[in-house]
Amino acid sequence: MKPIRETIHHLMNRHDFKERYEAMKRDILNDPHVQSFLRGHDVTDAMLNRHLGKLYEFVQQSKHCERCSSLEQCPNLLKGYTPHLIWQGKNIDVQYERCARKVQEDERKKQQSLIRSLFIPRDMLQASFDKLETDDLGRIEAIELANTFASTYEVGKRIKGLYLYGSFGVGKTYLLAAMANELAQRHIASFLVYVPEFVRSLKSSLQTDAFQDTIEYAKQVPVLMLDDLGAELMSSWWRDEVLGPILQYRMLEHLPTCFTSNFDLKRLTHHLAHSQRGEEEQVKAARMIERIVYLATPIEMKGKNRRIEM
Ligand code: ADP
Ligand code: MG
Repeated sequence: MKPIRETIHHLMNRHDFKERYEAMKRDILNDPHVQSFLRGHDVTDAMLNRHLGKLYEFVQQSKHCERCSSLEQCPNLLKGYTPHLIWQGKNIDVQYERCARKVQEDERKKQQSLIRSLFIPRDMLQASFDKLETDDLGRIEAIELANTFASTYEVGKRIKGLYLYGSFGVGKTYLLAAMANELAQRHIASFLVYVPEFVRSLKSSLQTDAFQDTIEYAKQVPVLMLDDLGAELMSSWWRDEVLGPILQYRMLEHLPTCFTSNFDLKRLTHHLAHSQRGEEEQVKAARMIERIVYLATPIEMKGKNRRIEM
């Protein structure tokens, strides 16, 4: 859009200025929105001439909105803002408000910012209960429990998370991501962490502020989701210095935690008891399992491997 002042200036420099000006004025006054805005007000010609610039701005900008194809392509002075005419005493002014598309986009961004994740593929984060296929009977119970959790949990409420276990490809990670999205729609923050990669990365970021921040966030976030527990390289350091304190904190603060694993609890106990170095610590493993069971209800997911079809 040409700046309004420039357009008017341009008109004034032409010899047919008066005709052009009157034509423009007619167009503006024929605009149905302008007409309904002016209706019922005592508007003199002098007033109209004085405010023609504002009315012109309104008509131009609102035309863009009528033809809007996407927020991305919005040509308005303020992207995503739509004009409204208002009276200020006897003066006419244009006020801008966020348009419906911008409101929706802002809300989407706000929700997205409530889902923090580490090493979870971006497209997985788009999962939702609406898109989720529920054809497999072996997963119905897990999906129902996950949906109930995500749609009823309130911050501060004492509620158990889920320990979803089952073989590779049945949709465990997908279900966690759907929960995170549902929670975000309800303005609840979650932290979704892919454990094997997390453990690998922790070693290199040890002692840094980022490490401390991540551990703190994992402790305190309203809903923590640990994906693929049991697939990480087990070390007593990870179990006793990282996982243990996180789970301990969350138990004491009654913060729900969800897990996924290829292992049932018995096999997870075995995994947590054996470090890569060959140490065996049954008691420590059992203590960790106690915490997991305190925090989450175990539920098996069965079904076909959805990755094979792809
Ligand atoms: P797991 O974590 O159990 O190994 P994933 O969650 O990674 O399995 O799911 C495997 C694949 O199947 C992914 O590509 C995912 O997008 C897809 N998928 C999983 N569950 C569903 C579902 N309920 N509806 C549609 N696609 C799904
Ligand atoms: Mg997975």
